[in-house]
Amino acid sequence: AKDTGKSRVARLQAPGAAVQPARHAAIRRRLRDATHRGAFTLHYQPKLELVLGQITSVEALIRWSDEELGPVAPAEFIAVAERSGQITTIGSWVLDAACAQARRWLDDGTPLRVAINVSPAQLAATDVAQEVLDTLARHGVPPDLLQVEVTEGVAVTDARSATAQLLALETAGVHIHLDDFGTGYSSLSMLRELPISTLKVDRSIVARVDTDAAERHLLAGVVNAAHALGLAVVAEGVEREAQLVQIRELGMDGAQGYLLARPVPAEELPAAALSVEARWGRPAASPCVVR
Ligand code: C2E
Ligand code: MG
Ligand code: MG
Ligand code: MG
Repeated sequence: AKDTGKSRVARLQAPGAAVQPARHAAIRRRLRDATHRGAFTLHYQPKLELVLGQITSVEALIRWSDEELGPVAPAEFIAVAERSGQITTIGSWVLDAACAQARRWLDDGTPLRVAINVSPAQLAATDVAQEVLDTLARHGVPPDLLQVEVTEGVAVTDARSATAQLLALETAGVHIHLDDFGTGYSSLSMLRELPISTLKVDRSIVARVDTDAAERHLLAGVVNAAHALGLAVVAEGVEREAQLVQIRELGMDGAQGYLLARPVPAEELPAAALSVEARWGRPAASPCVVR
């Protein structure tokens, strides 16, 4: 049997430690023309607006299946793409595909707002604001139908130019949402400084909302602060009904997670949206009993 240098290295190191750089290199190499090969698709996950009981938007999430590597999760390849600079090309593809889909739903008479994830590296590298507005115009999609999800990282890397770009988008009518709130560098002053309309509470916090009273109190404070500033609060990663109950109780405005719906291909919406609304649109114990 052939004993390549690569496998010898892998065996000498702790599991995972030596494999990672090789894996990263392979991902970087395979990403290079992935866009041209049509290797990406978008899946969409509904977000439920809790007061109206309606699906008002869906989040576009990139999916990559490579001929050599098989399916690779965004959690793995987005970080590689950010470091290699390939995120710019990928981000442009996502933006274009999401706008094309928003237009299709509009034409079908089932308009849905679409959220895209924009990484801090993208905001730092290019004039994303202009590109977003150009792409919306090219597809004939009103800016109001687009949500841009950014993470707290934007306030760390090149905060000035990132804030300026987000402000330009917000002024044009695009909605800016702060993703993964409660992880990393969270600070409440950020809610004041960034032109955001919605705060998405990270799954790691939502995970404890039904079991941990301290977490719940903390979240109640966040919801109050956000509402006082005129921001909406959405819970991500809702997996259990008990979490949804607490989220409603806390007065949160929206929910997203596997309990409601997994990310699905565009064709499966808006049927998926309708079934989420039918099942979860109203609180289970709605007090409208006729006596
Ligand atoms: P995110 O923006 O916070 O997206 C939420 C992630 O959690 C998605 O993973 C989604 O599939 C997953 N999720 C949703 N509900 C649940 C749940 O109830 N339980 C659990 N365990 N997970 C849930 P995904 O699609 O693997 O994406 C991971 C991350 O990769 C995203 O986190 C986002 O930061 C990044 N990402 C995904 N698509 C894109 C993209 O098009 N561009 C950029 N720049 N980043 C993207
Ligand atoms: Mg997101
Ligand atoms: Mg998130
Ligand atoms: Mg998250």
